[in-house]
Amino acid sequence: MTALVSGLRECGVDLRRTEFFITHAHVDHFGLASTLATDGARIYSSQADAAEINAAAAPGYWEREANFARMRGFPEEELKKLFANHPARTYMSEGPISFSILKDGDKISIGDYLFKCIETPGHTEGHICLYEPNKKIFICGDHMLIDITPNILLLSDARNSLKEYLVSLDKVYDLEVELVLPGHGSIFRDQKERIRELKQHHQIRLEEVISILGKGKQNVFQIASQMTWDIGCKSWDSFPPAQKWFAFGEAMAHLKYLEEEGKVGRETQEQGIVFFTEVSNA
Ligand SMILES: [Zn+2]
Repeated sequence: MTALVSGLRECGVDLRRTEFFITHAHVDHFGLASTLATDGARIYSSQADAAEINAAAAPGYWEREANFARMRGFPEEELKKLFANHPARTYMSEGPISFSILKDGDKISIGDYLFKCIETPGHTEGHICLYEPNKKIFICGDHMLIDITPNILLLSDARNSLKEYLVSLDKVYDLEVELVLPGHGSIFRDQKERIRELKQHHQIRLEEVISILGKGKQNVFQIASQMTWDIGCKSWDSFPPAQKWFAFGEAMAHLKYLEEEGKVGRETQEQGIVFFTEVSNA
């Protein structure tokens, strides 16, 4: 709060005349919005992510996520450690937020700027970007990052987040952009080049998951532990619980994608769900 308020002050932002646009339902992107918003200030979000933010503050939400992970091999003691200081819980805003809902194609006019909303599901179900066609500025939240790849999680069987994400990358490929303003790390200019890199990255990950499953049927946690991660830890065992959680969700997103492509199957055993390919069954 202190850092944000002093940064806003440095930019000359008057909070009494400020509205809030939430790119997506992750706590590092909205956690302080309701605290900063003065009376009557609108907080904009997509419908899906507004619902997600308010659902996460309601009882039962975390237990559902824990059960999903448990069924897919996430160890009990790791879950305990995770939920003891999960950042999404620690920094969650208090009480439900009353959002102003935006959808694809809606426009926001502020001074010399006219921003167009572009829904880009994938990183979250209701992720939304802002594009300024005259100034060719693209505010992309966590849809594209340049220093790291955005985390594509799946913590429910109802979606295919990686498929959504790849479609959303194609959706913004042809935009004329001169400046990309992402939610983390460095700004960049060439979104087309970054989109090609991100698509290739996920292609390599999909192949990696197939190759891991060549060793036999495995649960999601086991698969995640063998994927390549670039987070500066010596081994999987030394990953902090939150990083294991992100890795688990990312592995699940790739498995679901492969499953819908018919390349991976699943089997429910007594201990939980395992995944396999034709090779793992041979
Ligand atoms: Zn995010």
